[in-house]
Amino acid sequence: MTRVSEEPSTGPHAAPRLSVIVPMLNEARGIDALLARLLPALESTDLDFEIIAVDDGSVDDTLEILKQRHASNARIKALSLSRNFGKEIAVAAGLRHASGDAVVIMDGDLQHPPELIPKLVAQWRNGYDVVYAQRIDRDADSPTRRFLARIFYRTFRMLSGTRLHENAGDFRLLSRSAVAALNRLGERARFNKGLYAWIGFKSIGVPFDVPERPDAGKSRWRPRQLWHFALDGLASFTTIPLRIWSYLGLAISLLALAFGLYIIVDTMLYGNSVRGYPT
Ligand code: UDP
Ligand code: MG
Repeated sequence: MTRVSEEPSTGPHAAPRLSVIVPMLNEARGIDALLARLLPALESTDLDFEIIAVDDGSVDDTLEILKQRHASNARIKALSLSRNFGKEIAVAAGLRHASGDAVVIMDGDLQHPPELIPKLVAQWRNGYDVVYAQRIDRDADSPTRRFLARIFYRTFRMLSGTRLHENAGDFRLLSRSAVAALNRLGERARFNKGLYAWIGFKSIGVPFDVPERPDAGKSRWRPRQLWHFALDGLASFTTIPLRIWSYLGLAISLLALAFGLYIIVDTMLYGNSVRGYPT
């Protein structure tokens, strides 16, 4: 039996590296507040680290500010997408560029407290490949959104058979092997929450409280986007909606065929001519 070396890919003397991916859509106002908490949180671990901010087609100064911060601290990196692709694709782009032995994915609006990162790292060091931050409650979301989320989770499990990590969002740590598994998936319509659960691996949750968006700003998701997101998520994990339409089509065809046969048999065996006016 051979044992794979536990040595980090960065070489025998270097500390393991953590990549932090932050998708950003018009977060210019919040970047410095984020860095003011994220940098100390990362420095408190003894890991080498990089922050990869993915500018998802912002129309404010997000990219400009990121470039300036990169100039004074090379560990802060920016990836710029040509337009707004949505958070899922922004995260996927970040995952492909991350060089870390482990990767943390988090929102840029401080709803994912950076202070939790050392706890996520600790569980990674305990041997977990997927360490997801678990919301203690969803008070920060509106009651309608919470209700819809609950229905969505239930429907998802029923239709797809994949159980999503409960009360977990995108805030999580992934080991290099888990990232590699995600990078091998070429899905264009990505539903990360489903994929994180679907790839398997040894997983564990770490609880945290969701704070309000500190800039008192609104969620960047518009209702229509959330709805499409839910549909994409379902469609990429189950073929049931497709099957329903296939079966419906098949049923209608069979009915038509049966009716046609009935007319032919009726005419040939019983001599009932095609009925027109009853005169
Ligand atoms: N985001 C993004 N592209 C989008 C929408 C959002 O990169 O099209 C980013 C956003 O800047 C934030 C994170 O994704 O860092 C979560 O967005 P938001 O806070 O609006 O979502 P919510 O908290 O409502 O889930
Ligand atoms: Mg948010």
